[in-house]
Amino acid sequence: MLIKNNYNFDRQHIWHPYSSIKKPFPCYQVIKAKGCKLKLNNGKTLIDGMSSWLSAIHGYNHPRLNLAIKKQIKKMSHVMFGGLTHISAISLCRKLIEITPLPLECIFLCDSGSVSIEVSMKMALQYWLGRKENRQKFLALQYSYHGDTFAAMSVCDPKNSMHNLWKGYLTENYFAEAPKCGFYENWSIKDFDDFAYLIEKHHKKLAAVIIEPIVQGAGGMRIYNPKYLQLVREYCNLYDVLLIVDEIATGFGRTGKLFAFEYSDIEPDILCLGKALTGGTMTLAATITTREIADTISNSYANCFMHGPTFMGNPMACAVAVENLNILQNNDWVHQVGNIEKQLFKFLLPLKNSQQVSDIRILGAIGVVETNRSIDIAAIQNFFVRQGVWIRPFGKLIYLVPPYIIKEHELKKLIESIFLAIEYPLNFL
Ligand SMILES: *Cc1c(COP(=O)(O)O)cnc(C)c1O
Repeated sequence: MLIKNNYNFDRQHIWHPYSSIKKPFPCYQVIKAKGCKLKLNNGKTLIDGMSSWLSAIHGYNHPRLNLAIKKQIKKMSHVMFGGLTHISAISLCRKLIEITPLPLECIFLCDSGSVSIEVSMKMALQYWLGRKENRQKFLALQYSYHGDTFAAMSVCDPKNSMHNLWKGYLTENYFAEAPKCGFYENWSIKDFDDFAYLIEKHHKKLAAVIIEPIVQGAGGMRIYNPKYLQLVREYCNLYDVLLIVDEIATGFGRTGKLFAFEYSDIEPDILCLGKALTGGTMTLAATITTREIADTISNSYANCFMHGPTFMGNPMACAVAVENLNILQNNDWVHQVGNIEKQLFKFLLPLKNSQQVSDIRILGAIGVVETNRSIDIAAIQNFFVRQGVWIRPFGKLIYLVPPYIIKEHELKKLIESIFLAIEYPLNFL
């Protein structure tokens, strides 16, 4: 017999991200979202500090994004991409090639961020097959996060992603010590020693280095010195190893640059984009590479790149992504993100003086509070909801990644709620 009460049904039958069916975390039912506000079924309205995991950069229920989807659905919601094409995919790829570095000009459209990582890794492997070299290892960083599918997991931080659990099944890769030098700190060359050692030692086996530029996201919200990424690029050139840059979290203005790798003045060999690509409306990602890599892949096997998901290049997702990029251009994201950053420095940074706080990290529209003690997620979530804000911490981290359109008083309210939450002992384990 199915449970009548929707909340209980959800708890007994539906998995949420990283959750238990047996002992689920509390969930809040959203009935409507508009701008920077989420409306719950109990009538409460929350100011959103998460952009639904960095995706809804222009806020929810955006009229222009909605219209783009409506226009597309009148023509067709989907057609297979094998043997067929359509103007929405073509327009999107034109735009992506236009806004990314010149050498990146061949695109594979994917269903999600994790899949775009799978695709990037497969590209690297096929590239070396094309060059008749046996290279099957990847070099990643500690604290990295690249997704939850198996190849992606194999390049995530071994502890965070519980590689022990998958031992014998998961491919083993190399992990360099993560950069310790913060974004604003003086660069110390020591930070790069481990990476330099590993790439020098293993380069003949390495298909690629894979890295999140400047901000390591879900693996710890660490914001590191641009010099590190610059050296990664230099060493990849020196040892002839491909560089995959995972801009899924950081892309489209979040860090104050359109792409975070611009802080290091480098160009990737393979670039992964996702999350904000459709403005938080639909799932879509893209993997972009150079002509040279694409051509070499073609030499590897039957002239083909061996990937082709059913919903590849979904017209609705592509159409809304095009409009999302249009809005990004006329909304003046540089000022929006700049203002958020200014406000974070002014109002969030002072929290550094709190006994409960070990570090504050800010870059662009990202504000991170690292606490001294582990957070009781269910308790603090409830606390935030009672305050009228939507902030979802993990581990020891409370972070804000609001929609770019957030108003000053809304961001202020988010920050104030964090101040209150930090001083409330029951929010900690
Ligand atoms: C979210 C994320 C992914 C995975 O994307 P999904 O769409 O969740 O599969 C990969 N890399 C980074 C850096 C991410 O933040």
